[in-house]
Amino acid sequence: MLDISLVRSTLASHYDLTPSPELAASMSDLYGRMDRVVSPPEWAIYAPYVKAINDLKKKRNAVILGHNYMTPEIFHGVSDFVGDSLQLAIKATEVEADVIVQAGVHFMAETSKILSPEKTVLMPDMAAGCSLAESITAEGVEEMRAKYPGAPVVSYVNTTAEVKAASDICCTSSNAVQIVDAMDSDTVIMTPDQFLAQNVANLSKKKVVFWPGSCIVHELYTADDLRAYRELDPEVKIIAHPECTPDVVAEADFTGSTSGIIKWVHDHKPSKAMLVTECSMASNISDELPEVEFAKPCNMCPYMKKISLEKILYVLHTMEGQVEVDPDMAAKARLSVERMIDLSKKLGL
Ligand code: SF4
Repeated sequence: MLDISLVRSTLASHYDLTPSPELAASMSDLYGRMDRVVSPPEWAIYAPYVKAINDLKKKRNAVILGHNYMTPEIFHGVSDFVGDSLQLAIKATEVEADVIVQAGVHFMAETSKILSPEKTVLMPDMAAGCSLAESITAEGVEEMRAKYPGAPVVSYVNTTAEVKAASDICCTSSNAVQIVDAMDSDTVIMTPDQFLAQNVANLSKKKVVFWPGSCIVHELYTADDLRAYRELDPEVKIIAHPECTPDVVAEADFTGSTSGIIKWVHDHKPSKAMLVTECSMASNISDELPEVEFAKPCNMCPYMKKISLEKILYVLHTMEGQVEVDPDMAAKARLSVERMIDLSKKLGL
């Protein structure tokens, strides 16, 4: 476990991280991207970290891949590329950098390492896990294969390398229906998200059987809550992630992956929107969409929130937190991810 006292004493002896309104003012271009959601005093605290990280990135030839659920000072202040987990892993293969810092959770860093084994991949906090990735192991996949002989296994990208290696193909929340429909079998096993699988089953021609995992952020929303909210504010557009229950998805005006949600809000510019997903999503896009009022009910992911500017600076400084994946396992896991990418291209997704 990361020793936060050690992190702080190490950083204090190498960097001046005193809050500085002057430094903050000199970085107003960056602040302009988040000034609707980050107050000036907060920015004065963040600015020395943001400057130190951005300077150190150049020295290390490093890039930071920031997931859509990162807090605004990470998303806008230090990330070189932002997006959903698969967009970030594909970006990892394209960048020239020697070092990748994954501002996200552990399975994302593993996916980056699987697709870019020659690069050093750093996790700011190894304890940043995911309830979906932790819900199943390779034995779980074999259990499902034994129960449904001959059925292909489609695993969500929110899985460990071990589970990807044990699966036939991966999927994301944006391509899951098309990937399942393209399988050469009437029955398809989906792991590990029961709700994504049920939402896919409602749209697919296949019989979908699934592992009972769930996302602790999205499973908290209920259709009753959304109906009550809509009654209070009939103008609001409700936009859900497919990791929510089918009842919640049925109540939504649109359902999509994090990048799908961002695109929908940009395309439709509703006067009011409620994003039924992790809290930071609305904060991260609110500056570029000043005409949209974002309703605030949201749930935080405790794993994503383990990532901070302080921890990013520490791993870049020490080069600790390197993510390794056994090469044989990585090769098998890479096949599952590459099959998904190839099939998505073939299907024009
Ligand atoms: S939001 Fe849900 S799926 Fe995403 S990392 Fe957190 S627990 Fe996992």
